[in-house]
Amino acid sequence: MSTVERLVNPHIRDLAPYQPGKPMEELERELGLDSSIKLASNENPVGPSPKAVEAVRKGIEEVNRYPDGACFELRAKLATRLGIEEDQLVFGCGADEILELIVKTFLAPGDEVVMPWPSFAMYPIVVKGMGGKVVQVPLRDDFGHDLDAMREAITDRTKVVFVCNPNNPTGGSIGKAEFDAFVEALPDDVVLAVDEAYFEFARRSDFPDSVAWLAKRPATLVLRTFSKYLGLAGLRIGYGIGSAELVGFMERARHPFNVNRLAEAAAVAAMDDEEHIRRTLQVNAEGIDYLTRELGELGIQVEPTDTNFVLAKIGANVFDDLLKKGVIVRPMAGFGLPEHVRITVGLPEENERLVKALRDLGVSG
Ligand SMILES: *Cc1c(COP(=O)(O)O)cnc(C)c1O
Repeated sequence: MSTVERLVNPHIRDLAPYQPGKPMEELERELGLDSSIKLASNENPVGPSPKAVEAVRKGIEEVNRYPDGACFELRAKLATRLGIEEDQLVFGCGADEILELIVKTFLAPGDEVVMPWPSFAMYPIVVKGMGGKVVQVPLRDDFGHDLDAMREAITDRTKVVFVCNPNNPTGGSIGKAEFDAFVEALPDDVVLAVDEAYFEFARRSDFPDSVAWLAKRPATLVLRTFSKYLGLAGLRIGYGIGSAELVGFMERARHPFNVNRLAEAAAVAAMDDEEHIRRTLQVNAEGIDYLTRELGELGIQVEPTDTNFVLAKIGANVFDDLLKKGVIVRPMAGFGLPEHVRITVGLPEENERLVKALRDLGVSG
């Protein structure tokens, strides 16, 4: 071990770095391709709201000033929208930072965190980074959360339970009856963190009302983000909704200027752009239906989804063949699913290019 390595905090030394989706420029350079499409990071293919772009343009003139650390304008707007008090919101540099704030606020080294698996790759990273113990509960065979097993995995050392609804990378969601029964039976003295990064895409009519639980269960936090449906992934802004008491403690752990001015201005503007939101949801819904149908016709198994991506079983090694055709999807081998890929819904012409590539490769489930 080198001198530096010996000095590193063991929690950090043992971490495997997060693997982001491959950037398009890198792929084009490597393979000498004219063009490529990236359907790998669940970004909004429509782009950002033009109103958000305008707000950023205006805001750029004032970046000599620190941001408003309280996100006053956005806070007021969101609280009204959600029917909650303003002090029930905490903002972060992406929902990723909210995840980190949860573990920073509640976890001491050795504390356990129960989470589904496969699920969002950042959960084990933030928990291990804080010296916590990761307790992964495998999904059921149908890729749903095994909520019974998750409840049974809770011990005296459990501080936090993560639920990812809808789940990334599998796409399915938990319905209201199942969710409510789980929360009802959960011990009071664990923090329930419900990650709803894809909330706005969910099409099932019985999607749980997690925010309604906040009044009954103070140790609950709901996470949402502007990255996915509002197309602001590059600006980094997300938030947590909790009881005022819980959010107050997270505020102590938060850096004062964690959300930048441009991100806040863009989020405020994008929230009001109903035309952009309508188009985003329409492109997504039509894309899901198209991919499910076309891949199904090729004999490829596609999981039902309440998100902006689909999990598809295209077979081992097809990921690399798609790359050579300039199509970037997300391989799932790191999640224990070597024959699956996660495909983000693109614009119609992007979805068509993916289907054509699969057809040309002779992929058939
Ligand atoms: C994308 C994502 C996040 C984080 O989004 P941010 O860009 O950090 O706001 C959190 N949870 C899940 C499940 C996600 O897919």
